[in-house]
This record gives sequence, C-alpha cells and structure tokens, in this order.
Amino acid sequence: GKGGWKDFDERDLLLSYNALKVLEARYLLKNPDTLRYVETPQMMFRRVANFLAKVDLSYGKTEEEVRKVADRFYEVMSSLKFLPNTPTLMNSGTRLGVLSACFVLPVRDSMTTPEGEGIYDTLRAMALVHQQGGGTGFDFSELRPKGDTVASTAGVASGPISFMKIFDVSTDVVKQGGKRRGANMGIMHVWHPDVRDFIKSKTGQLKDAQLQNFNISVGMYDYFMRAVEREEDVPLINPRKTKVPGKGWDYYIVKARGYMDEEYVQEFILNELEEKGGSVWLDESAFVTVDEAMVIAEREGAVTGRVNARAVFDEIVRGAWDSGDPGIVFIDEINRRHPIYYVSKIQATNPCAEEPLLSWESCNLGSINLEKFVIEGDKPTIDWDSLAETITYAVRMLDNVIDANRYPLKQIEDATKKTRKVGLGVMGFSRLLVRLGIPYDSPDALYVSYNLAKFVYYHAFKASIELASEKGSFPAYNPQLYRDIFDTAKPFADMLEILSIKPQVSPSVRKMMERAEKLDFSELKALRVKNGLRNSTVMSIAPTGTISIIAGTSSGIEPLFALAFIRNVAVGKFMEVDPLFLEYLRKYELDDPEVVSKIAETGSVSENVFMPRTIRNIFRTAHEVGPEYHLLHQACWQQWNDSGVSKTINMRSEETPETVSKVYLSAWKLGIKGITVYRDRSKSQQVIYFGIKK
Ligand code: UDP
Repeated sequence: GKGGWKDFDERDLLLSYNALKVLEARYLLKNPDTLRYVETPQMMFRRVANFLAKVDLSYGKTEEEVRKVADRFYEVMSSLKFLPNTPTLMNSGTRLGVLSACFVLPVRDSMTTPEGEGIYDTLRAMALVHQQGGGTGFDFSELRPKGDTVASTAGVASGPISFMKIFDVSTDVVKQGGKRRGANMGIMHVWHPDVRDFIKSKTGQLKDAQLQNFNISVGMYDYFMRAVEREEDVPLINPRKTKVPGKGWDYYIVKARGYMDEEYVQEFILNELEEKGGSVWLDESAFVTVDEAMVIAEREGAVTGRVNARAVFDEIVRGAWDSGDPGIVFIDEINRRHPIYYVSKIQATNPCAEEPLLSWESCNLGSINLEKFVIEGDKPTIDWDSLAETITYAVRMLDNVIDANRYPLKQIEDATKKTRKVGLGVMGFSRLLVRLGIPYDSPDALYVSYNLAKFVYYHAFKASIELASEKGSFPAYNPQLYRDIFDTAKPFADMLEILSIKPQVSPSVRKMMERAEKLDFSELKALRVKNGLRNSTVMSIAPTGTISIIAGTSSGIEPLFALAFIRNVAVGKFMEVDPLFLEYLRKYELDDPEVVSKIAETGSVSENVFMPRTIRNIFRTAHEVGPEYHLLHQACWQQWNDSGVSKTINMRSEETPETVSKVYLSAWKLGIKGITVYRDRSKSQQVIYFGIKK
C-alpha cells in the first residue's frame, strides 16, 4: 500500500532465514499457472488479518471498525507475538477454506450408518480433512474385536487394527497436495479385547513399518490404574455385546465413575431423556459402582476374559520405551475437567493430544510467542500488560476463525459451532526462561510455568466472556452446569510434592510472577454467569512445530532441543545454531568458529567443564532435563487449561523401561491428560537429530 512498504520491509526483517524458507515452500500464495509468488510474508499476514476481521461485519460492525480490528490482527501477527495454526495461515481467503488443525471423528461398528458415522463414512471424512491440512483423531474401540462374528455375512470380523491400516494407507495417498502430511491419533480404550495387539502394533519389528501416519494411545481409566497398583485382574469387554450399541464397556465405567454431579443428572439428563425418548448416551441410572458395572457387563455376556492390569501396563511401558508408542490418554481426567461434560463424553483427542474433542468437533489453535514479552535489562522481567492485550486479540481472532471457516462436512460445522472451542497456546517458553536467566530444570522455572499458564488462562477466559457480551454465548452454554476448571486446579506445591521436589522458589521469581499469582478467579466466575461465555474451551498447548519456526522461537513449552542441530523438514535439511546461545557465547568472548563447531558435535554444553557456569545451567537441552521436570512443566500448564498439552517427555537413549513406567504412573497422579515419551534414537526416522556427529 501507499507509503506502507517501508514498514512492511522492516517487519520482514524479523523473519529468520529458516522462517523465510518455510514460508516460501508452503505458505506464500502462488499463481497456479505461472507458479510465481503473488504475496510477500507481510501480504500473507494482511490476507489472514483482513479475512478474519471481516467476520465482524456479520455481527453489526462498520467497515471502519472492521478495518481497525484487521489492523490489530495484522499487528500481533507481523510482530510475531501471536500466530494462528498453519491451516489458518495457508488457507484464509483462498479457495480451500479449512482453517482448523484439529478434528475428532467418530467410528461406529458398521460399514456405514445413516448419520454418516460408519467406518467408511469416517474414512471419507478423514480424506476431506487431510486434503486441507487438518489432523484427525479417532477412538477405534467401538469396533468389534478380531474373530468376532459378523451377522450380516456370517463371517468373521477382522478387528479394529485392520481398519486402522486402511486409514493409514489413505493418509499416505492423500498427502495434502504436498503442503502438509496428514497426522492421525488412533486410540483404543484399555478394556477392548484387542488392546494387547494394539499396544504392539507400532513396536518391535513393526515400529518403522506399520501405521506410520498414526500416533497411537491407549485410552486409560482410573479403575485400571488402581488395578495396576494392586496387581489385580480386570475384564475385557466386547463392545458389540453391550446393551447400549456403540457405547462399549466404558459406558458402564462412565456410569460408575460419576463424572456428573447430582444436579446435572436431575436438571439436565432427565429432561433430555424425556425429550429424546431415552436415546441419550447416559440414562437415569448413571450412578453405579465399578463392581455393579462389571456385574451388568457380565450379565449381558460382554466380558470376553480377564487380564492382569499390571501385565498390560508393562506391555504399554515396554512399547513406549522401545518406540515411543503407545502413549496414554487419561479418559477420566479428560472428562472430569471437560467444562461442558454435560454435552457428551470425550473418547479421543487430536494427533498431538492437545485437543480432547467430542465426535465431529474441530478446533483451531494459535500460539503466543512468549519470548516477545521479556523486558530486557539487569533484572529482566515480563511485560504483563502487553501480554494481556495480545491474548485478548488472539482470542477474538481465534473466535472469528470459527465463523470464517469453510467446513468440509455438515456434521463438523454443526458440532464446532455448537461448542465453539478455540485453543490459545504458547511457544518460545524455554527461550523466555533463557532470557530471564532461569534454568528449565529448576523449581523457579516450574513456578514461572504455573503462573504464566494461570495468567494466559485468566485473560483468555476473560476475553471469551467479553466476546459473549458482544456476540453471544456458544449455543451449548449452560451457566449452571458449566464446570470451571479453575475450581479444580492443583496447588503448585502439591504437584512438586508428588515427585518429591521441594517447592523452593527464589524471592525474585516470586516477585516477578506476582501479577499472575494475585489473579482472582471468583470475580471471573460471577462475570461468566452474568454475561455468558463465547467459547466452551479457550486454551490448548500445541506443539507449534511449524509456526515456531516462522516465529523464530522454541516450540511450545519444550526445552531447547539442541544448541546446534540438523533439522529434517519436508523442504530439506537445515543446520541450526541457536542465536540466543550465540549471543551468550559472545558475552563471554567464546563465539569463535572453533568453539561453536566443537559444541555442535554434541549439541550441548552442560558436560563441558570449560564452559562458564551460567551458560551450562541456562542452556539445558531436552535430553539433559530430567523426566521429572519435563513432567512437571506439562502438569503446570495443564492445571490452568481447559483442553490439553502437547509435550514429549524426551529421554536419553540409556533410560530404562522403569523410567517410562514411573513417568506414566506419575502423569496419572499429576492430573496430566495425555502423555508421550520419546527415547532418543528409538526410531530409525526422527524429525530432529541433535548434534552433527552421528
Ligand atoms: N497437524 C497435522 N499435520 C502436521 C502437523 C500438525 O495434521 O503435519 C495437526 C495436528 O492435529 C497437530 C496440530 O496440527 O496436533 C497442531 O500442530 P502444530 O502446532 O505443530 O502445527 P503448526 O500450526 O505449528 O503447523
């Protein structure tokens, strides 16, 4: 635009070489005939900002007001303070129109169903989502087990894993036009008779061969974890034989666990039951004990056998140690802390597990670049006002994505607009710590995690309440039944105690986090009840695999991966030296090429006795950070968060299965919703190798 080009050029200078490479390869629009670029990075941010702001016209805003909103959206993106997820950047204002990264699709035990939820209906839905850059999650545990009967053909069922293989091949075929590879999450609940085959489906000889487009996770329950601790037997259930078609054994467990409070059952379910003639997924006998539930399953002939819970758990641990799969998603915790538990029960998550979603729901994500909110100086601190303001615009933007989205299927549109979930996350967390001079593996850092999460959640939630006054609440909002997650956030000290870490926080860090520490949620609750709520969830910690490269910062809440490393991405290999690390080396006059290339051999410095102590403490990489600190950071970000956290518990290759076992058990106790471990070099293909020497 007129006179604007100077600013545009300056903003482009914020982009690193790698950011430009990624943008050029996949994000910037090209003329389809000549293949010439038709936009610069700043024009891309403008395209997205204008397209999303335009939504406000349909809420009665004037052209002038919309222009102002668009300017703010542009501002937060082009300053790299906030970026929406990849599909929003790629597809806004284009012929494709899917803007969300996360989807969960139902899989019923039938070839096809009138609602379009059968196996082959879902296969088609998956292809449509993948085509436009979305990731899909599925719960396959409603499918009858291998060897079970098929009445219509008098044949024998081939089981859920055989169908997963078809989904996997389809994913390979629809490689999303070369822009983004389809990612899947396959979940099987732990009561399913095929669960042991499922656990082994990606480990041992199969690890680099089978289901390569799937992350897999076992859907875990509290009853099962308790049985693991007591080494008790648990039943396996055939979902086809349970009384409620398609609900499976966990139908009984839901009843047994009582996610619902009395008020809910009285006021909501019974009404709904009356209206729908008893066809909802829960009935008035919602409260039974686990033992009673087992008796019911037994009586109905649904129990196919019993297994020792500890033995199954050990197989999960062994698989994860060997190959990273399976992970675990804790179904009870997910539903207990699902604010709109009264709509239905969550059975699955998206591929990286940051979004537990109901069937057909989609969610669009976006992440704040925390590194941008450090005020440098002798005593660096956080720019809280700027952070709060950015959060407010980010939530408005994400909410507009829901309306601007072009949904590939009617069911997805309906489910998404009914609950209006958005997922505001963060990136650049470990680089914020470096800039604050705090080692990632310290109680101080955990305290920062805990309070930053609280601050982000507070302001995101507040923004959603304000949006409700302006544009209305999400249709499934029920002010009485809605469950505020801040009522159940675990106290900081309690979590550290679970892993026997003393919650000793230095006074200066306490002081720095005061703003977050003091936030009062009871006021916010009153506001929510009075004014409503625009989005049923507002937060989610995404991996930010690509947008963190565009922002030039560390991904999600992960520690630095390596100070120098080779990154394999779709467009090529990059050798990277962390610029923040270089800055520090310069301070100590250690930025000689000889020193840097020596460091690049291993990617880390913590064992290099010639390095200054400050550098060795602050630049701890993912494999040097102990599993307990990985876990606790994840737990801190989970407490103030109505969705989930994507995090990999990275480990050295020498770690034993015992460590994995401890990590999985502690994750359950810490109230983590989903957990994944990765032992270095346990797969032949990994995206990032640290160090140059191999
Ligand atoms: N995702 C996907 N394919 C990919 C990467 C990501 O489908 O190649 C989906 C997946 O659901 C994941 C989500 O996008 O959980 C967010 O991933 P990430 O934060 O890494 O995406 P970004 O916006 O940084 O590209």
